[in-house]
Amino acid sequence: MSESKEIKRKCQACFEVKNRAELIKITKLKDGTLKINPKTNEIGRSAYICKNPDCIKQFIKKHKLKKALKYSNAKEIEKIELELAAFLI
Ligand SMILES: [Zn+2]
Repeated sequence: MSESKEIKRKCQACFEVKNRAELIKITKLKDGTLKINPKTNEIGRSAYICKNPDCIKQFIKKHKLKKALKYSNAKEIEKIELELAAFLI
């Protein structure tokens, strides 16, 4: 069965497990900055969120990024939240 080979991750807003392709990835890079959908060679602690507008809205409103990545740089979080908001348009 090929389905077991699909990469699955949990959305940090609704906590449903989905295929990687259905999710937005946010990674904390080595230099301490955050990046949405980084290149494969940019490794770091990551959080995933559905492309579902309700999940994105909840993720931004409740500042879930801070907890998901154990991250406290408010300026970087704000930057990413603005980039996520662009997915809603
Ligand atoms: Zn979700």
